[in-house]
Amino acid sequence: MIDRYTLPSRMLAPEPGWHVRADVIVVGSGVAGLTVALAARSAGLSVTLVTKALLDDGSTRWAQGGIAAALGDGDTPEQHLEDTLVAGVGLCDVEAVRVLVTEGPGAVRRLIARGAGFDHDEDGSLALTREGGHHRNRIAHAGGDATGAEVSRALVAAVERDPGIDVVENALALDLLRDREGRAAGVTLHVMGEGTEEGVGAVLGRAVVLATGGLGQVFAQTTNPAVSTGDGVALALRAGARAPTSSSSSSTRPCCGSGPARAASSRWSPRRCAARARSSSTTAATASCTVCTRWPTSHRAT
Ligand SMILES: Cc1cc2nc3c(=O)[nH]c(=O)nc-3n(C[C@H](O)[C@H](O)[C@H](O)COP(=O)(O)OP(=O)(O)OC[C@H]3O[C@@H](n4cnc5c(N)ncnc54)[C@H](O)[C@@H]3O)c2cc1C
Repeated sequence: MIDRYTLPSRMLAPEPGWHVRADVIVVGSGVAGLTVALAARSAGLSVTLVTKALLDDGSTRWAQGGIAAALGDGDTPEQHLEDTLVAGVGLCDVEAVRVLVTEGPGAVRRLIARGAGFDHDEDGSLALTREGGHHRNRIAHAGGDATGAEVSRALVAAVERDPGIDVVENALALDLLRDREGRAAGVTLHVMGEGTEEGVGAVLGRAVVLATGGLGQVFAQTTNPAVSTGDGVALALRAGARAPTSSSSSSTRPCCGSGPARAASSRWSPRRCAARARSSSTTAATASCTVCTRWPTSHRAT
């Protein structure tokens, strides 16, 4: 088992042969990366967005059913929180869920404002449907079950319209670069088929946003696309970030009873659940190791 002291600190790759600069470097072009790139531009910052395949590759365009948010009459983030915690049977990070349910309605409205064509009812109101675990209709959708494709289309179009966002496609982010104080100051990239010295270069900036999506490809069976290999997690761990483990800590198990059990339990408390999850945080290492062994030899960690 690898611990944080034996974790490789960087990938085996040539020194960068070229570099560019921007205020903000965004790694990944799913809904997260595209959204943060546009938000940075709204704040007047220059952005370089790098993505390892094409702009619309990633989980986002495959998302189907829709986006859950408390947008219907009489619905509230508190009700959405309660439904989510019951369905989560103690596995939820309560504070993360609270952010999700509180900021969700505004996020959907911003997607609409950016041009995403969500479905509407005959009276012109946003069409909301219901999915498992929800006590109210709160799933906003587009093109029936093509929600992610429409969200991706609208955000990609907005990014391509903005001359202040420099997009680099086919650019695999390898490692985080840090300044003398240890703060993130850029990333190294391998741009396939471009650049110099085997295509390895560097993007330098004041802030780095890792929006590289999930890591479904570490499993034999997954619905995730080929790009979902956990690169951002591995990159962050190699740079010294700490993350909760998921395989052996109590954070992965219901620590306060499952749905029906918790309803009858006076000990159940979202805050207690979150506190236990936090107290079990340790340094993760095996995920990046698993990820790295799936990569081409030239990109194996050293
Ligand atoms: C089949 C399917 C159906 C889904 N249905 C729904 C749904 O109905 N509702 C819902 O809310 N959610 C759904 N989801 C989940 C949803 O799609 C994701 O939670 C969401 O799209 C994640 O967005 P993201 O921006 O974080 O990641 P992604 O969209 O995966 O984007 C990650 C980006 O990072 C890039 N990247 C990765 N590694 C590197 C690297 N080393 N260097 C440079 N770039 C890199 C990728 O190329 C990609 O552009 C579904 C997911 C799948 C797979």
